[in-house]
Amino acid sequence: MNIGNSLTSLKQTLPEKAILVAVSKTKPIEAILEAYSAGHRVFGENKIQEMVSKWETLPKDIEWHMIGHVQTNKVKYMAPFVSLIHAIDSEKLLEEIQKQGAKNNRIISGLIQVRIAKEETKFGAKPEAVKPLLEYAEKCPNILIDGLMGMASFTSDENQIRKEFSSLAEIYSSLQQQFPKLKYLSMGMSGDYTIALEIGSNMIRVGSKIFGERNY
Ligand SMILES: *Cc1c(COP(=O)(O)O)cnc(C)c1O
Repeated sequence: MNIGNSLTSLKQTLPEKAILVAVSKTKPIEAILEAYSAGHRVFGENKIQEMVSKWETLPKDIEWHMIGHVQTNKVKYMAPFVSLIHAIDSEKLLEEIQKQGAKNNRIISGLIQVRIAKEETKFGAKPEAVKPLLEYAEKCPNILIDGLMGMASFTSDENQIRKEFSSLAEIYSSLQQQFPKLKYLSMGMSGDYTIALEIGSNMIRVGSKIFGERNY
């Protein structure tokens, strides 16, 4: 199947309100253009340099999402154009995004990444750190935190995945009253997006199911 076809058939199975971030990391410009020609405009990358060079080359009506871990010193390269930063997990990063947002005269949107997987990872805020981060972000005029993001463990144990996504969905709904701007719950990738959607995800990040396996 070609990229346009896999994209179109995937979209037909998604609920109307779900946003599909087509994860194009490691994939060439031509692959992204195929998805673009099929009408898709929202793409996700996990390396800032790669995203910047693709942004420079490709049509300017593409929305670029940074889905990977962000090093503070690289925020400046994407600040002029990034449309959503998915993996914000520290005050230090918020502080830098605020600084670069102000410099570029933009309000930069982002999600707080929450650590929900039981496997060891250094990325993502602990569940109890999410509220303080949201409170900190509210004081940043050039940042809008409009959702949460999480990744489930890399496992074939569907119950485990379900449990982890549910924990994020619970955190999300428990914060919505105090933070009414929260509207995106970014969870689900090629292997687990159907479970994520069942549990309330409204933004999925799908790469290999659209573009084929990645050869790193
Ligand atoms: C690579 C990546 C994805 C997409 O993974 P697939 O399994 O190819 O769909 C989603 N989210 C993040 C954070 C990623 O790094």
